[in-house]
Amino acid sequence: MREDLGLLLQLQQWDLDTMRLESELNSWAPQRAELVAKVLQGREQAEALKQAWVQLEVARKGLESQIAQLQAMADKYATQQLQTKKNEEYRAFQSQIETTRKNISELETKVLEKMDSEDQTRKKYQKALVANESVEVDCKKRIQSLDDIKKSHVREVQERKVKRSEIADLVEPKLRAVYERMFANKRGHVLVGVDGGSCGGCHIKLPQQLILSCRSDEITNCINCGCMLYYSPEMSI
Ligand SMILES: [Zn+2]
Repeated sequence: MREDLGLLLQLQQWDLDTMRLESELNSWAPQRAELVAKVLQGREQAEALKQAWVQLEVARKGLESQIAQLQAMADKYATQQLQTKKNEEYRAFQSQIETTRKNISELETKVLEKMDSEDQTRKKYQKALVANESVEVDCKKRIQSLDDIKKSHVREVQERKVKRSEIADLVEPKLRAVYERMFANKRGHVLVGVDGGSCGGCHIKLPQQLILSCRSDEITNCINCGCMLYYSPEMSI
């Protein structure tokens, strides 16, 4: 292989490795966002349970205060009943007392139901808090590790970009300019080998004449994908 193509091949490998690192870096943002979302979702679910618990408590206290009011009414009717001397009034108070007590009894049943729901919701909330704690520890650890890897990759990409110029300076400037323009467009292999008579980039069979030019170390391009071709004796034709 021509020496300049050999150097270009080294530069291309350097660029491909840098590009791989950069694409790995980009893939970390969604992974990290997913972990953050998982933590927030756990917190929101726990908060919703807490709110439900608070609402049940408020509703129960409302019922209890209604019971207290009804109880006061029942007591008042009972006192008035004792004071009356008329049978009709006595019976009317008796009826009101019974209706009020019936209402109190119904409300007391509802209070018990609310207390039961409150208890269940409180347990779910406490369970969610415990579960969240371990999820958060795990997510925070993974986020930290992603951040650490990202930091080291960012540093590595920066170092590679600096070191790239040392490798790129060895390549003949005109060839390098063509390569760089093509690499910027393709974001992948630009210089490919001739493999079994086919282009190593698009795998289309190459005309014999093109292979011969390539073999005689002329700079040639694939007629299909435009990749620069190189030939080395270990490649089968
Ligand atoms: Zn091709």
